[in-house]
Amino acid sequence: MTHHVILGAGPAGVIAAETIRQQAPKDTITLVGDEAEPPYSRMAIPYLLMGNIDERGTYLRKKPSHFADLRINQLHVQATSVDVATKSIALDDGQRLSYDRLLIATGSHPARPPIPGMDCAGVHPCWTLADARKIMALARPGARVLQMGAGFIGCIIMEALMRRGVQLSVVEMGDRMVPRMMGPMAGGMIRDWCESQGVQVFTGTRVESIHPGEPLSVRLSSGPTV
Ligand SMILES: Cc1cc2nc3c(=O)[nH]c(=O)nc-3n(C[C@H](O)[C@H](O)[C@H](O)COP(=O)(O)OP(=O)(O)OC[C@H]3O[C@@H](n4cnc5c(N)ncnc54)[C@H](O)[C@@H]3O)c2cc1C
Repeated sequence: MTHHVILGAGPAGVIAAETIRQQAPKDTITLVGDEAEPPYSRMAIPYLLMGNIDERGTYLRKKPSHFADLRINQLHVQATSVDVATKSIALDDGQRLSYDRLLIATGSHPARPPIPGMDCAGVHPCWTLADARKIMALARPGARVLQMGAGFIGCIIMEALMRRGVQLSVVEMGDRMVPRMMGPMAGGMIRDWCESQGVQVFTGTRVESIHPGEPLSVRLSSGPTV
């Protein structure tokens, strides 16, 4: 009997585990994920921020016994190294896990630009459910929020923040909004619409530095400090 180990319990890891189960009813499957929550979809985080769903609504599989029913073992630990010679994985709880077949589906990380002040309290990526909780605690009606980046996902997050009633400024280093997907005309239309909704938009602008305090202040490459 083959032991399949999948590192990463995001959408890719979950679909892989379920597909292997379909193909190999008798094999052992272990899904290793380093987040505390049941497997969830990052794509649902904006809807959580909007208040359209609760955290359970982000879960990829709603039935609590879904993985147990499929005999997919779940480990909530981080894999720290893989030894391909011995086919074993070191886990951050001190255990080792042996495998016959290994799939690495550990996803990605948010880009972290080397900007002074990125470590200040109140600066958050929007990547995980843990991040979403911190953002929801701060993004209260009337709070001033500056979002770095107005790409595709940035625009979805922007809408969620507006629905929370914050005063929003968006800084995009490209010369238009959603610069990798939209041309100048469409990018300009998105900008016009955002501004009509009360969003302050800076394009062709970089965040140069972030300064701690209440409120935080941010120096922009185009001159102003907001
Ligand atoms: C706010 C937001 C909105 C998005 N909206 C969209 C959208 O509308 N449309 C779209 O197509 N995409 C969207 N995306 C992107 C989409 O969520 C990702 O492409 C998708 O999550 C990738 O799935 P994945 O399984 O490859 O990786 P992930 O979802 O990142 O899952 C990987 C998992 O592996 C875990 N892991 C990493 N290292 C280890 C380790 N060493 N040991 C154990 N576990 C580990 C991670 O913690 C994570 O839980 C959005 C992303 C975000 C953040």
